[in-house]
Amino acid sequence: MSSKKRENEFDVIVVGGGIMGSCTAYQTAKRGYTTLLLDQFDMLHYRGSSHGESRTLRVTYPESYYPCMVVESSKLWDEAQSEIGYKVLYPTNQLDIGQASDRSLQAVIRSCQSNSIEFRVLDHAQVAKEYGGGVVVPEDWIGVVSKGAGVIKPTKAVCMFQTLAFHNGATLKDNRKVIDIRKADDDTGGCVVATDKRETFYGRKCVISAGAWTNKLLKKVIGRDIPIKPLETTLWYWKVKEEYEKDYSIDGGFPTFAGYGCPYIYGTPSLEYPGLIKIGVHGGKFVDPDKRTWTPEPELADVIKNWVRDRFGGRVDHDRPISVQSCMYSMTPDEDYVIDFIGGEFGKDVIVTGGFSGHGFKMGPVIGRVVADLVIHGQAKGVQLDYFKLARFDKNPKGNIKEFSEQVASKL
Ligand SMILES: Cc1cc2nc3c(=O)[nH]c(=O)nc-3n(C[C@H](O)[C@H](O)[C@H](O)COP(=O)(O)OP(=O)(O)OC[C@H]3O[C@@H](n4cnc5c(N)ncnc54)[C@H](O)[C@@H]3O)c2cc1C
Repeated sequence: MSSKKRENEFDVIVVGGGIMGSCTAYQTAKRGYTTLLLDQFDMLHYRGSSHGESRTLRVTYPESYYPCMVVESSKLWDEAQSEIGYKVLYPTNQLDIGQASDRSLQAVIRSCQSNSIEFRVLDHAQVAKEYGGGVVVPEDWIGVVSKGAGVIKPTKAVCMFQTLAFHNGATLKDNRKVIDIRKADDDTGGCVVATDKRETFYGRKCVISAGAWTNKLLKKVIGRDIPIKPLETTLWYWKVKEEYEKDYSIDGGFPTFAGYGCPYIYGTPSLEYPGLIKIGVHGGKFVDPDKRTWTPEPELADVIKNWVRDRFGGRVDHDRPISVQSCMYSMTPDEDYVIDFIGGEFGKDVIVTGGFSGHGFKMGPVIGRVVADLVIHGQAKGVQLDYFKLARFDKNPKGNIKEFSEQVASKL
């Protein structure tokens, strides 16, 4: 690829300034490619998926192909933190709990073994002992404690990658909605990207990282949908009783955690708001990302309330959440990502990354590395990309087959 010739010409244009687009722009800029990062709203806005106070980084996955990606991502998180000079990732352990017979949790154990992830399995009494009575599980449940986890501060992290991209020469433009991407007319290849501000930019390659808006843009570009559905979900903050505040904090050694079963419930220790613990439920309602309700589903409120009551031994006030925040997921039917060329007349010139299904944030740096490799070399090593190709939906509309499918995208 060539270096920039005119003001509106770039080697790479990245559409979407969330974590994926920002990490990709950082990677391509750092490798010397002229890069433009565009977002439809203000940079660091709160209407997509990558904003807010905390995201979990955990190595434990039931699918065997994710842990190695987390391990690479962790290294890249460290490198970026060293480069910028501040922290966005706060290490702790991960605790996964659930019925000993739960198929997903059993798959987590197998995937830890096959990926050489350090972990311990605890019975219900050992779980209580490990956390001094702060976590309570029934007799037929187990806990899986693993290292290499942590809490990431998402808005700060996106800001970090955008700053690093800028320092490496990238151009960042916000409040520009991309309304079309078409193949350049001349025989040099590449694409013309049009925004709602009546600007056009020329990119030799283009990356679409549009989160919940992916299909809105793709419909214009290729005239059809891909299996990614926007889902509005909610995060809930609960008040830890004063005398136990330290026990549930990251400084006190409390882990990031997940409760397996239906629904899957996850959370982070107190960090961003002292004395509050964050809990989310892996679910919500399908919405148009431009017509959100900003309100939680009442039935989920009761599910979490009961979970807080039962799992924290009465040490966290379960009467009502202190704060409730809405956020967007982009769900695929198998909850695996989409990282692929859109093909057709664009060949390998346009890549789409999306469908991160509520578990993409931790992977931002590795996704950025992989997408930059696809942009520059047309291929990427170190990640099993077959799981993320669009063609999987041609073979089976539900995508990749999973042995623990009861817990995957149950509403799709
Ligand atoms: C409540 C919640 C909790 C989560 N917890 C975790 C967790 O603990 N661990 C974890 O790993 N992951 C977690 N995730 C998932 C993770 O946050 C997402 O997978 C990730 O942020 C997706 O990033 P993205 O860049 O694909 O999307 P986004 O952050 O939504 O970025 C897409 C960007 O594209 C822009 N855009 C869209 N269309 C256009 C257009 N036409 N023109 C210009 N710009 C456009 C949007 O404005 C947006 O800024 C969670 C998500 C939520 C909502």
